[in-house]
Amino acid sequence: MTLKLNFTGSTDVGLIASTNKDAYYIDPEGRFFIVADGNGGYEGGDVVSGIATQKIPAYLSEKWQSSRDSDKLLEFAFLTANEAILQEQQDNPELADMGTSVVVVIFRSRESPICANVGNCRLYRWRESQLEQITEDHTWVAKAIKAGDITPEEARVHSFRHLVLSCLGREEIASLKIQPVDLKVGDRLLLCSDGLTEELTDRNIADYLQQASTLEEAASSLIEAAKEKGGKDNITVVLVDLL
Ligand code: CA
Repeated sequence: MTLKLNFTGSTDVGLIASTNKDAYYIDPEGRFFIVADGNGGYEGGDVVSGIATQKIPAYLSEKWQSSRDSDKLLEFAFLTANEAILQEQQDNPELADMGTSVVVVIFRSRESPICANVGNCRLYRWRESQLEQITEDHTWVAKAIKAGDITPEEARVHSFRHLVLSCLGREEIASLKIQPVDLKVGDRLLLCSDGLTEELTDRNIADYLQQASTLEEAASSLIEAAKEKGGKDNITVVLVDLL
């Protein structure tokens, strides 16, 4: 299939943090899109998201034309980035705890887009004014919601809400989830870090997407809105329209 995509991305340090531990990468040819969020509180948060947004694109670009299935391609891209992070940890003991959440969407020919994620960066699909979260967070609260122990409303203010259970930068990346994304013309994808979803509910996000007249305006209005609500964390958004 021939895909026509329109895309944009933006990141902001927010109002509290001194460094931006988020990173994003948009392939100039529109083949893949990545958002990474270096784990908060640790040394090297900006280093680790930087490695992920460098190594994953490098691997995908190198192997793009190979006969390998897209899910395998993504799996190996994540493993390659993970190896690089583990190596960096070994070389720099002060960075030993660094880890990063990552969400990636790839558009390879003759297939629906495929998403891979680990941690708490999210992929949403916006279709006919409805926003749907495609990825599942690998967090303590997401697990507790699933188990019926807390409600989504309680999760938004829970003291463990920042606890990420799986990320790149660990020997095991047990939660890596790779899935096809159902997408049709007119749909929009949103990849984001938790600095956005910490401040804005899904309803808020849908409203800002609805109000914006361009993709760039949508990205900047989401970031500004998250800052108006407190901007407590770094905020990153990547938007992709299927035209
Ligand atoms: Ca974050």
